Amino acid sequence: MKLNLSVLKTLKVLKEEGTFFEEEAIRITQGVGLKYVYIGNVPGHKYNSTFCPKCDKRLIHRIHFSVLSNNIKDGKCKFCQYEIHGIWR
Ligand SMILES: [Zn+2]
Repeated sequence: MKLNLSVLKTLKVLKEEGTFFEEEAIRITQGVGLKYVYIGNVPGHKYNSTFCPKCDKRLIHRIHFSVLSNNIKDGKCKFCQYEIHGIWR
């Protein structure tokens, strides 16, 4: 099995800086325009939830697989009315 040394160096730096790899992944994906990325399998982490890309308020509050609250009403953020694309039933 080949290991990519640049990836290993990046992970080592992230670990030394105390940055969670998952948070770095969120930052990178938001930087390329993905709006609704969230972290899975880290129950209780802030980014286990989904946030509004316009007002940054919590749209879907999750803990692991449970949805505690859903602030999308009629396909829009209930706080700022930003349209949230998707199928909401
Ligand atoms: Zn909003």
